[in-house]
Amino acid sequence: MLPAIGAGLQAVLPCDWVQPGPPLDAAFAYDPRRQQYWSTPILQRLEAMRPSTANAILGVTEADLFIPILTFVFGEALLSRPPALISLRRLRPSFYGLPEDPDLVLERARREAVHELGHVLGLVHCREFGCIMRASRAAEEIDLKGPGFCPQCRLGLAPPTADG
Ligand SMILES: [Zn+2]
Ligand SMILES: [Zn+2]
Repeated sequence: MLPAIGAGLQAVLPCDWVQPGPPLDAAFAYDPRRQQYWSTPILQRLEAMRPSTANAILGVTEADLFIPILTFVFGEALLSRPPALISLRRLRPSFYGLPEDPDLVLERARREAVHELGHVLGLVHCREFGCIMRASRAAEEIDLKGPGFCPQCRLGLAPPTADG
């Protein structure tokens, strides 16, 4: 799925290239009580894995992610910092007991990746209905957004500095 997600990113974001990196074992971030993975420590590891020539690094995982104040997150990124992370787990219709739909999962993954990388590129959440930077609390809300940035958000895109 990574090449397809990468191609989707290049269609919407101002990136020069996208290439897959090495895998990361996220066992260190597992919370046995919640049976989920804490996304913030994974972001920190990702930041350390970022090639010096890259402005951003995106992690894609099947693991269910959380941050302590929320029951789950589709992904996480810190504002204007290089690392971003998305989970495919709750993008899959099968998570909700529905038939699997690879095309839908890929489109949701692309949108979540663009959304989190929007945070990397300095954007906060947007209230425009069609904007990819609108916050989503359910998978169906990801489907209702447009595939890209509203004009206002597009104007605000700014790469993080190379040293983070
Ligand atoms: Zn967000
Ligand atoms: Zn917007």
